[in-house]
This record gives sequence, structure tokens and C-alpha cells, in this order.
Amino acid sequence: MTNSMRQSKLFTKTRKEAPSDEVSKNAELLIRGGFIHKEMAGVYSYLPLGLKVLRKIENIVREEMNKAGGQEILMSAFQPKENWEKTGRWDGLDVLYKVSDSQGREVALGPTHEEIVVPILKNYLTSYKDLPKALYQIQDKFRMELRPKSGILRGREFLMKDMYSFHASQEDFEKFYEQMEGVYKTLFERVGIGHITYLTFASGGTFSKYSHEFQTITSAGEDTIYVDEGSGIAINKEVMSDEVLSQLNMVKENLVERKAIEVGNIFDLKTKYSAPFDLSYTDDKGEKHPVVMGCYGIGLGRLMGTVVEALADDKGIAWPETIAPFKLHLLSLGEDAEVLKEAEKVYESLEEAGIEVLFDDRAGLSAGEKFSDADLLGMPYRAVVSARSMKEHGIELKKRIEDKGKIVTLEELIKKLVP
Ligand code: ATP
Ligand code: MG
Repeated sequence: MTNSMRQSKLFTKTRKEAPSDEVSKNAELLIRGGFIHKEMAGVYSYLPLGLKVLRKIENIVREEMNKAGGQEILMSAFQPKENWEKTGRWDGLDVLYKVSDSQGREVALGPTHEEIVVPILKNYLTSYKDLPKALYQIQDKFRMELRPKSGILRGREFLMKDMYSFHASQEDFEKFYEQMEGVYKTLFERVGIGHITYLTFASGGTFSKYSHEFQTITSAGEDTIYVDEGSGIAINKEVMSDEVLSQLNMVKENLVERKAIEVGNIFDLKTKYSAPFDLSYTDDKGEKHPVVMGCYGIGLGRLMGTVVEALADDKGIAWPETIAPFKLHLLSLGEDAEVLKEAEKVYESLEEAGIEVLFDDRAGLSAGEKFSDADLLGMPYRAVVSARSMKEHGIELKKRIEDKGKIVTLEELIKKLVP
């Protein structure tokens, strides 16, 4: 697909009615808009408009991981059973899909990749000079989630970015972990939800005191967090106690309770996965030590669904510019030959200027139908060419999130939208 597209050519169409089996707003709007298609509970296909959003998110994630020093790989979804037995997770992880073939062989369908990435690195890592390293991938995960009813916020198959870092010492790990906090902050800002996403303290499980989640405020969220708006930091309700509050220097009276969804997390793994695979290095004295690890996840589909949940209004989706399928939705209204000719000219000029345009050139639709499709699909800008706009010698330009538009010339339009 090029950067611009005629809506008349798009194979998907919008739907007025929400599918009756979807209760979540993100799935309802995304299916009505033709962004995604539901295959079964917790499993969705991405259609042209939805894939464009997902790829833009992917690019932002990739850029930020590369900046942080990550090296991209792509690991297999099929994973050896022995690896999972080694970590005790073949029977210990309730969401694990176990697949068997006609020969009776069993494999795991990867819900996460510690069991794969550690043995890979073991082939290449011997000395402290090989450390630190950070490997990441953007890849489909499989998890047997119970009752998935949150659309693409919680899939049984879903796209995740998972990064794993490897260090010679806890100290070195902590330096990198802190750096990743900043990387995640930037990333969520770029995706357009920085203002409603909080670094959140959560329990660290058995291995460390805390982990950090990045929680985005939305009523669709399954978590409850307490936000300190002054510092911009939050605590997950699950870890909230007077002891934790005092450790974090937070005051109960300053906290507000919010529903939120975890869009990403960063985790101290210590030697939990390096130990069972004996992933170790020798220091400068020739002594052997286990490698210290961290992991850093982001759900790309969940991120997309979160943007829909958090930013949509009662008319439809409102994409941030950075991840919108197209920057501009150009509408031609009516069947008047002059109008159609002018709209074609505008489309061509915008295309030439390198602006991403979805051109609603469909014949036989009322202005109302085109307007409500534009609101549902949620491009950041809408430009209308109609008999009325031509009478005023221009194009009516409106932001998705504003009520009133204004008449601009083609030159002004291009100047405003050129990347
Ligand atoms: P949750 O508590 O929401 O189940 P998790 O703790 O299981 O999340 P991780 O295993 O750390 O999540 O996965 C890393 C990231 O992947 C999460 O922060 C989230 O953004 C995303 N994610 C996890 N499970 C799903 C899912 N079922 N569907 C879509 N995205 C998911
Ligand atoms: Mg989970």
C-alpha cells in the first residue's frame, strides 16, 4: 500500500452495528471501522487500516529499542518442551499452550521467550567482555487467557515486544533498567498516551522487591492503581500497603484511585533463568558467575487498543498523528462534476506533497454518511471539498478532536500537513 489510498478501493467497509458478541469499546470500534476481524475469542486478524496502525507502533517501538542498544532478533513460536521443563514452567505456567503432533511429540507455543533466548545466548557468551547485551524481538505470543473479553487488550494470540538484557552484575543491570524507564516514557509519549501513562510500582514476585509497570488510565483497565499526580508516579493496588508507601516516600492523602491497563513492564529477573541453563561468564580473574538478567515487555496490540479506549469519543476513534493509518481524511461531497474534479486535484497535490491521505471518493453516499465514517475511522485531520467549500474558494479543514473547521487554501492545507 502506498502512503495514500482511495476509500473506494479499500476492501473493508465500515459497519453501523457493533458485533453483538463484543463488549469492549476497542473491539467494537475497531471491528466497525474495519481495522480488525475477529476469528474467535481473543484472536483477531489485522486488516489494512489496522495493520497500518500496528506497523507504526512497531516502528516507534523498534526505533526506541535500537536507540537503547537492543539488537533485534526473531525467535520461534514453537519451543522445545525440555527447555520449559528445565525452568519448571512446563507444568508451572497456567497460560502455556502445549501442542502435540501426530507423532505424540509435544512443544510449547511461546507465551514469552526466556526459555529460548537464554540457550541462544549461551552459545555466544563466555567472558565478561561479552557483556552487557540486550536482545529484543517483535513477535506473536500465545497465552491461554481465561475469558478474553477485552478485545485486543487481552488476546490469546497477540503481538509483543520482548527485550531481554544480560549483565555481569546487579549494579550494571540496575543502570540499564533505569535507562529503560526513560526509554519507555519516551515511547509512550510518542504513541500519544504519555499524558495518561504512569510508572507504577508493582510487586516483584519472589525474586525482587518491585517491578515497574507502565499503566495507562482508562475505564477499560483491569487494574486499579493509585496515582500521585504531583510526582507522576503510581502504585498498583495489589502492592499498596503502609509499609510500601513509606518505602516509596508517598503520602496516602495525595493518591487518587484510577482504573488502568498495563501497556508495558520492566522486570528484574536476577538469575532466575540464567541459573537453570547455566548461562554464566568468567570474570577477569577467571572466576565463573551466573549472568544477571532483566526483561522488558510491551504489548503492541494492547497499546493500539488502549489508544482507542482512552482517546475515542462517542463518535468514534481519535488516532494520535504518530500512529494514525493516514494523517488526513479527504472527503468529496455530492456528485457535482466541478466538486469531483477539484477533489481529485486536491488529492493528487496532497499525494505529491507526501502527505498520507485516505480519499473518500466513494459515489452515492450522503454527506452525513461520509462524516460519520470519518469520525469513526478517526484520522487526525478531515478535509472536505464540497459545493459550499468551493463557493468560499477553499477546502474545509477540521481536526478530529475539534468541532469547528475552517476554510483554507490548498497551499495552506499542504503547509499545515506536510511531514
Ligand atoms: P497482564 O497482567 O495484563 O496479564 P502480564 O503481566 O501477563 O500482563 P507480561 O507477561 O509481562 O504481561 O507481558 C508483557 C506485556 O505484554 C504486558 O505489559 C502487556 O502490554 C502485554 N500483554 C500481556 N498479556 C497480553 C495479552 N493477553 N494480550 C495482549 N497483550 C498482552
Ligand atoms: Mg498475564
